[in-house]
Amino acid sequence: MSVNQQAHAGPPYGQPQPGYQGYQQPAYGGQPLPAVPQSQYGAYNGPMPGYQQPVPPQGSLRAPPTSGAPPPASGASLPSSHLAYSQFGHGDVQNGIPASAAPMPRPPASQPFLPGSAPTPVSQTSTFQQYGPLPASVQQLSNHMAGMTVGSTAASAPPPAGLGYGPSTSVPPVSGSFSATGSGLYTPYTASQGPPPTSVSQGLPLAQPPFPGQPISTQHPPTQVPGFASPPSSTGIGPSSYPPTTGAPRPPAMPGPPLPGQTLAGPPTSQPNHVSSPPPPAALSGPHPGPPLSGLHGPPPSAHPPQPGYQMQQNGSFGQVRGPQPNYGGAYPGTPNYGSQPGPPPPAKRLDPDSIPSPQLNELPPQQKPRHRIDPDAIPSPIQVIEDDRSNRGSEPFVTGVRGQVPPLVTTNFLVKDQGNASPRYIRCTSYNIPCTSDMAKQSQVPLAAVIKPLATLPPEEALPYLVDHGESGPVRCNRCKAYMCPFMQFIEGGRRFQCCFCSCVTEVPPHYFQHLDHTGKRVDFYDRPELSLGSYEFLATVDYCKNNKFPSPPAFIFMIDVSYNAVKSGLVRLICEELKSLLDYLPREGNMEESAIRVGFVTYNKVLHFYNVKSSLAQPQMMVVSDVADMFVPLLDGFLVNVNESRTVIASLLDQIPEMFADTRETETLFAPVIQAGLEALKAAECAGKLFIFHTSLPIAEAPGKLKNRDDRKLVNTDKEKALFQPQTSFYNNLAKDCVAQGCCVDLFLFPNQYVDVATLGVVPYQTGGSIYKYAYFQLETDQERFLNDLRRDVQKEVGFDAVMRVRTSTGIRATDFFGAFYMSNTTDVEMAGLDCDKTITVEFKHDDKLSEDSGALLQCALLYTSCAGQRRLRIHNLSLNCCTQLADLYRNCETDTLINYLAKYAYRAVLNSPVKTVRDALVSQCAQILACYRKNCASPSSAGQLILPECMKLLPVYLNCVLKSDVLQPGPEVTTDDRAYIRQLVTSMDVAETNVFFYPRLLPLTKADVDSDALPAAIRNSEERLSKGDIYLLENGLNIFVWVGVNVQQGLIQNLFGVSSFSQISNALSTLPVLDNPFSKKVRSVVDMLRVQRSRYMKLIIVKQEDKLEMLFKHFLVEDKSLSGGASYVDFLCHMHKEIRQLLS
Ligand SMILES: [Zn+2]
Repeated sequence: MSVNQQAHAGPPYGQPQPGYQGYQQPAYGGQPLPAVPQSQYGAYNGPMPGYQQPVPPQGSLRAPPTSGAPPPASGASLPSSHLAYSQFGHGDVQNGIPASAAPMPRPPASQPFLPGSAPTPVSQTSTFQQYGPLPASVQQLSNHMAGMTVGSTAASAPPPAGLGYGPSTSVPPVSGSFSATGSGLYTPYTASQGPPPTSVSQGLPLAQPPFPGQPISTQHPPTQVPGFASPPSSTGIGPSSYPPTTGAPRPPAMPGPPLPGQTLAGPPTSQPNHVSSPPPPAALSGPHPGPPLSGLHGPPPSAHPPQPGYQMQQNGSFGQVRGPQPNYGGAYPGTPNYGSQPGPPPPAKRLDPDSIPSPQLNELPPQQKPRHRIDPDAIPSPIQVIEDDRSNRGSEPFVTGVRGQVPPLVTTNFLVKDQGNASPRYIRCTSYNIPCTSDMAKQSQVPLAAVIKPLATLPPEEALPYLVDHGESGPVRCNRCKAYMCPFMQFIEGGRRFQCCFCSCVTEVPPHYFQHLDHTGKRVDFYDRPELSLGSYEFLATVDYCKNNKFPSPPAFIFMIDVSYNAVKSGLVRLICEELKSLLDYLPREGNMEESAIRVGFVTYNKVLHFYNVKSSLAQPQMMVVSDVADMFVPLLDGFLVNVNESRTVIASLLDQIPEMFADTRETETLFAPVIQAGLEALKAAECAGKLFIFHTSLPIAEAPGKLKNRDDRKLVNTDKEKALFQPQTSFYNNLAKDCVAQGCCVDLFLFPNQYVDVATLGVVPYQTGGSIYKYAYFQLETDQERFLNDLRRDVQKEVGFDAVMRVRTSTGIRATDFFGAFYMSNTTDVEMAGLDCDKTITVEFKHDDKLSEDSGALLQCALLYTSCAGQRRLRIHNLSLNCCTQLADLYRNCETDTLINYLAKYAYRAVLNSPVKTVRDALVSQCAQILACYRKNCASPSSAGQLILPECMKLLPVYLNCVLKSDVLQPGPEVTTDDRAYIRQLVTSMDVAETNVFFYPRLLPLTKADVDSDALPAAIRNSEERLSKGDIYLLENGLNIFVWVGVNVQQGLIQNLFGVSSFSQISNALSTLPVLDNPFSKKVRSVVDMLRVQRSRYMKLIIVKQEDKLEMLFKHFLVEDKSLSGGASYVDFLCHMHKEIRQLLS
């Protein structure tokens, strides 16, 4: 690609990404124009002058107004030719993200996305700004026994829009709203105020101050505490009306963690703040024998800062039967906007005749207050949070123009418009508002981390990063810190220099890159250059960025097939060879290239290696055997790596012959390290990077380097020596991995073990080279081939970069200190990966090294240097700007719990290499208790110590953390093998946030509730056995498996329609696929399965589970809100435990 190729032709950019090369460069080859008047901007050292200017609202928005978009700034100078780009919404940003000092509307995050509502007029933005961060709502839980109440209050933070609560930072979150009033046993919530009634759209005057006492609150009906009214035995409140609970007996509930001195009262639960539908009522019906838990009081959710005098609205009278769990039938009324997205309160509720002001609750005779049980519906529900976010944020694109915006949850479908910050598909952070000082950060214990997926796949509606070619001069960078040109750099002195946003150093603009500034200080080519206006883009790298100063050759793929007895006998060898014949036509290719540039090679092995010459000129492939494996070499150079099209017939012949050649093998021993060495040597000889696809079946016990012994020892579980199970048994593989990374040799390992193979050791090279491991235990052709072939196809075809190095730069004050993922590091800053594919993430932790400022915020720049599948050397740049705060409340209001869990899981999974598992679990609990205690102490308003108050953005932290604690790595059940644990440990380490979310808290869908006429998935339900009905069929997925659970009382007609058999007893649980039947239910279920599989990076195995069948134990393992067989606590019990930990910290 050449530089300066095109004349300034117009607005290249608005069009759909024109293949990589399509970005047209404006003619920037011109000379610097000396006559540029000094800019109106002050000294260049000034803090982002452009930002300080008042931003006149632009009269007409060219871009369709998006509600989250910042107000248009002065875009006046845009030439009309730039209009095409305006679809990105002319950011209002000039040269970057506006600093907070500029009038910025609340990040869209807090604005209500009201589908269908009129766009917020620009003029209102100033009103919004002052509210700052999202209101956090709080959930209060109290321990009844201790005399506390459970209540959930909503936001302690000031409501965002419109209500005139004043600057957010100054308002103490509220928990006080619930003043535990009181007396005695039962303290009702005094107020439950829903999220601030936000609503501009409802016609509330924007600035209307809330009047205390005014019942605004209908939105969150106070939750009543369920267990309360019912007598301990449970007949109480409406069990009968409780929706589907299975009759299955539950194991007695586990007593909460032992709390010295105190019986745990039930955890208090409160209704999830956001329940818009009928308040959860009352007691649980399922037999949930109450442990020593006392009843919970339901707390009213409230959302606001303490508003004394608010009356709680109570929906449904006390003791009334509970309505269906919200979300259950999918009947989700309206689009409630809660929490961070306050929406208009449904006015209707106020008129509910059943509503009773909470104070009346006090009048109930004490004996009616049940005290034994916590209503699971009253504790924060993941399903509710997910549904709320979907309805509040799924309908509007997420526009990245504003600093520090918290993106929608990973479970919400949304489109992203890049206006200067990287899409959350590339980077997600644990918090979008970072404490200004390290003391604050330490106090909160909230880890500051970013989960980065540099090559993430985007939905077709979103443009791929543009490729920018600066020709031989390469990308423009800061002279000192070497940060790449990005939207945050400030051009000064009429455009002749720029000041680095990371280190403040001033650098001359190279002559070819010079451009004038407009009156706002923005370069006039701002919208023509991705690196000035977008959060993510690519640069074509020059030879300076290449190994040995030579442009790389296209990479190679080498297929290495175990042909020992087990592999041949299971049919695996034949299957792989058959598949490769067609799969080789689908190797990754770049842009519009007709064929892939990737060359291929083939090796088979057992205890010796066989190389194949498949040169196109040969009539038949030639095999060369290497039996001296001690010092691996490649016996042939020419003809080993070939172009698929040129050698098509020879390759086909080889793939036909391999299964025959080894059909009668009796060799059971295999080797492993020499296989990798062979691939590595072949790539070295060819002077290219590449990927090895190794198909392997057994523990490599053949005499050879890297030979392993069976050292599996389940007795080590739960001892101080358990960590040895996760460590490799020899350092040989670590050294090999280092050599592989140096060459750009990435290893993907497909394992087919029938017994222990020592995944912890075999996985070292795949893991450290950025590769993947797939594991198919007890592989059987009939049941497993579909999954294996789908995984293989995807793995071969997916986008991958080779010889990759990633560095994360940060603005002054913080720096990247720790990294988690599948990679190798030879120094403290560069993450090296022989290969990095579109599914891999790297989690980066940051620490303070100085103070940060609220004005300038904090910036991250992730730069990934890699070789594309066509051999092009590129840099992919992702930029993200975050806010900084001096108030802890702002931190807690802008956290992302899913990302936090991703970080914590990775942290814990790495820690088990060095510490006993129990120590790791305790540390996790302790850290989370500190996080929540800090919130309680500093951000929540004073209230009874017995109340559990959770920040709105972290109200799911306890339930999700419990899932991590109970996971197979940290608390394995007896059925979990050592290899499974090592496998999961490595897998999770590279997962993105969406994957960890569903992995730790699986998705459970009632299939029998699915609407067969719609494409939508049925609404998910919570992962607890008591949510299952014997008469229904459910699907559970966790990203690796799909279970279809069939209740014993399912109607015969449904069974016939889904399984094609006439009764429950005839359903075979050996099925690995659902029969293809021509009826709406069968089609619907199969389409749901297909839809879920498409969303995941691995093909999920389908497992049919019949209720009361032995496989059900496996299924129940994934009902993560229940107590687990391995001793993991139920959600309710764990919440009690966390509450106790927090109280200890506070006392
Ligand atoms: Zn710099």
